[in-house]
Amino acid sequence: MTFRNNATWLAVFLTALVVVQGCEAPDDRPNILFIFSDDHSSAAISAYGSVLNNTPHIDRIAREGIRLDRYLVTNSICAPSRATILTGKYSHENGQLTNFETFDGNQQTFPKLLQQAGYQTAMIGKWHLRSVPTGFDYSNVLIGQGPYYNPRMILNGVDTVSHEGYTTDIVTDMALDWLRQDRDSGKPFLAMVQHKAPHRPWDPGPDQLALFDDETLPQPSTFRDNYDTRSSAAAAANMRVATNLVARDLKIEAGPGNLNEEQQARWDAAYGPRNEALRDALERGDMDDEALVDWKYQRYVKDYLRTVASMDENIGRILDYLEETGLAENTIVIYSSDQGWYLGEHGWYDKRWMFEPSLRAPFVARWPGHIPDGSVSAAMTSNVDLASTFLDLAGAPQPPDLHGKSMMPVLLGEEGEDAFRESFYYHYYEYPGSHCVQRHYGVRTDRYKLIYYYEIDEWELFDLDVDPDEVNNRYADPAMQSIVTELTTELDRLRQDLDVPADTRPMAECTSDSAGWFGFGDE
Ligand code: CA
Repeated sequence: MTFRNNATWLAVFLTALVVVQGCEAPDDRPNILFIFSDDHSSAAISAYGSVLNNTPHIDRIAREGIRLDRYLVTNSICAPSRATILTGKYSHENGQLTNFETFDGNQQTFPKLLQQAGYQTAMIGKWHLRSVPTGFDYSNVLIGQGPYYNPRMILNGVDTVSHEGYTTDIVTDMALDWLRQDRDSGKPFLAMVQHKAPHRPWDPGPDQLALFDDETLPQPSTFRDNYDTRSSAAAAANMRVATNLVARDLKIEAGPGNLNEEQQARWDAAYGPRNEALRDALERGDMDDEALVDWKYQRYVKDYLRTVASMDENIGRILDYLEETGLAENTIVIYSSDQGWYLGEHGWYDKRWMFEPSLRAPFVARWPGHIPDGSVSAAMTSNVDLASTFLDLAGAPQPPDLHGKSMMPVLLGEEGEDAFRESFYYHYYEYPGSHCVQRHYGVRTDRYKLIYYYEIDEWELFDLDVDPDEVNNRYADPAMQSIVTELTTELDRLRQDLDVPADTRPMAECTSDSAGWFGFGDE
């Protein structure tokens, strides 16, 4: 090797110095703490204006960071949402169309890419994808849905370990233990802390059993929806608070079934007298059918909110730990859920629909010095954008096959709301599955939503500006035909862009989940 002059030698020396120093410099890429729940509606978060409950710790993340008001999911159901987050791709591409497939963990996921980029990765809590977690240096996950109490969990894909206590507390304890003991301080981390709560059957923790006892919570305005003008799918779905909640959901002579003596005693002390009072009222004839429906709503929503209260408190424990250790400074903390949820809107519980309560999920994020305090954005962001976003945060390359894009310009307040995405594609596949919600796809824009129930060939069009509750289907309205044409063209374009194949899976008879609890003696 020859060098032309001393200046070249100097350049080589300086380059080498920069490389050496680069290796020794601390890795100051941000840590990512992704706190995630199952089925949490924004309507049960005070930062989103809940009229039902208070969530001071989730609110704190929003207050010190950003709240996204139009964070939409591509397919509103548990496992498909998780697969979309991990892969940054729609269901037809990642293979997780419904809750019933096993996630192919051999495919590209963002935790694997972060791991390759030098992040230490951990997955703690509810995984719900059947296959063993891949791309994690540490995993400790619930089996399937997992119970609310005394869960068995699988450590690093191998060892099954039984734990005693309330699952929300246990998952948080594990996350804190990992941060304290197992974190490699020489690397940035990705920690996914994923709760079972507030998923059905909404079993409250021992400390929240009495919450809301003396309150009567308000019902949403569409609680007694008659489904007029909607597709036939709406009335046919088996997910009504009035008729489909079963005795186990309502805690009528049926609890978790795996409680220890002390847990059982506290459970019985809470539900025993309440159920006796109900039995007495029904026997006295004090409650007609409508009053019983109102009672079911109270029991359902209170139990749901009790599981949220425990989760919020546990999020506070993690935020406190980050403050105490100084980790808060360079950690982006996110709280989100796998989809939205019905807290009685349209008379329903559960999710699945492209309607707003289940299409929109909560998403709040804090990163001190980067995300401006108290920001709010209505940009149409999505769970399909998370993989890109996390890779962007880590300064890692973006694979060309991702369907989403980095939300960082939105989070940092660098991009206007309208610039991020003008139209969003949605596709739900699980019919009949649970609740018999028809398969559908559709497009949402800033103002409109067009939905196509393709197995029954029925359409819906909603003008969200004047009809935010989506109760007035205007698809056949002559005044709306130019909008229908425009949106149909956009829907076709999105399906083509995303290369969505025709859904040729066979249909089956809808039989699931139709028989609810109607009174003592029925169970
Ligand atoms: Ca879910």
